[in-house]
Amino acid sequence: MRIAVIGAGTAGLTTAWLLTPDHDVTVHEGARHPGGAVRTHTLDTQRGPVALDLGAQHLSPGEFTAHRALRRLLGVGEDDETTVPLTLTVTAAGTETPLLVTPDAARDADAGRTPVTGPAWERIAAFLAETARPEPVGTRATVAETAETAKVGDETLDKVLLPWLASYSGCRLKDAAAMPARYAAAWALRTPPDRPEDAALWTNLTGGLATLTGRLAHALGDRLRLSDPVAAVSAQGPGGSAPLTVRTTAGGEYAYDRVVVATPAAEAARILAADPVLAERAVLLGRLPYEPVTVALHRDPRFMPAERRHWSAVNIHAHDERGEATFWFGAAGAPDVFKSWITHRDQPDDVIRTERFDHLVLTAEADAVRRTLHGLRLSPHLQLAGSYLHDIDSQESAVRSALHAAQEIDVSGSRVARLRAAVRTETTS
Ligand SMILES: Cc1cc2nc3c(=O)[nH]c(=O)nc-3n(C[C@H](O)[C@H](O)[C@H](O)COP(=O)(O)OP(=O)(O)OC[C@H]3O[C@@H](n4cnc5c(N)ncnc54)[C@H](O)[C@@H]3O)c2cc1C
Repeated sequence: MRIAVIGAGTAGLTTAWLLTPDHDVTVHEGARHPGGAVRTHTLDTQRGPVALDLGAQHLSPGEFTAHRALRRLLGVGEDDETTVPLTLTVTAAGTETPLLVTPDAARDADAGRTPVTGPAWERIAAFLAETARPEPVGTRATVAETAETAKVGDETLDKVLLPWLASYSGCRLKDAAAMPARYAAAWALRTPPDRPEDAALWTNLTGGLATLTGRLAHALGDRLRLSDPVAAVSAQGPGGSAPLTVRTTAGGEYAYDRVVVATPAAEAARILAADPVLAERAVLLGRLPYEPVTVALHRDPRFMPAERRHWSAVNIHAHDERGEATFWFGAAGAPDVFKSWITHRDQPDDVIRTERFDHLVLTAEADAVRRTLHGLRLSPHLQLAGSYLHDIDSQESAVRSALHAAQEIDVSGSRVARLRAAVRTETTS
């Protein structure tokens, strides 16, 4: 079959890689580089080059089984991985003493860190415990509802909990309050530390996540067409069926038997808008909200807590409307380089690189839209892929969406079978 994949982020690259041995696959990517939300920067330091991820970075060691299975199939092994203790500091804007510095018992003494626990720590723990319970709040309770049940209190809610949860997607505090609590807190719930006084340990790739997307892209060779944005997809057959025509902004027009749209949802809605049948079915895609975010890689310590003993891997500066996150690469042994979501404050000094992203904001309404999308068939010959379709919008959900799309096209494809078997092995090991 002639198959087009639109978008070369993790989801599109994985879909294309899965289908390539058995089909004639072409990937149309709008940007000059593959990877989408994976953007690895190589920094020259006195100790040699260090890879730093500006976009997606953290992988859950316990939960991201499909991603790990894919990594292993592509030869990315344990030697290519490093462990990051995901400690957290939250400081209210205009103050210097943090409201929370989570402990990391195994490393704090050596690292010269001083945890700040107290009431905020206990209330966040109560919130997470309530969120993890199936009853009585149920699976769809919002952050605000769950915080009330857990008696978090206004001070901790507004100054610690909401800024922390909002920082994951760079959204406003009011949007974080409206998120389903289980999704908002999933990053904390899915990989809990062994004991409360330990930090949760997450996986990074030493060469950055581009190690994986680079291998996927390399395997595609000249099937990957960069700087080739797609303007529209339309169906020539009845009811949105094949052949499907892909039109690029450069004026190219190509016919395919199958198309996989692996762009963010809002862009997918735009691409499908020109075809009356597809547009009507895709209208829901346009209702998934994205927040534009700018992330700066820099060396400006003003974005960190005032005292170094309070530094964590993740540092939140809590404003009235947002929680601004600064990740410290030094927590994983790299030099003192930071990546900050620029929301309220001016750009930092000593910027190395800035990148713009659109981040899905998974409010309760967006979650309902997404669940409807799951059962929706846009066309017998057009599939969607993308991290927004599954679970918590992560690298794992991108790979799972790719496997799902590839299976819909060719359930007995050779790499589809290999990845499914590898996921089973990873899940049971
Ligand atoms: C700043 C940030 C940090 C994140 N951190 C993490 C993290 O630490 N861990 C984690 O697991 N997840 C993280 N995520 C979630 C992230 O969204 C997923 O991990 C994943 O990378 C998304 O993959 P995707 O392929 O679905 O979408 P994308 O990566 O967005 O890829 C979509 C691709 O489509 C292309 N495209 C768009 N329009 C067109 C067009 N018209 N024609 C052709 N191509 C087009 C884009 O250029 C892009 O390459 C983060 C996301 C962001 C934005």
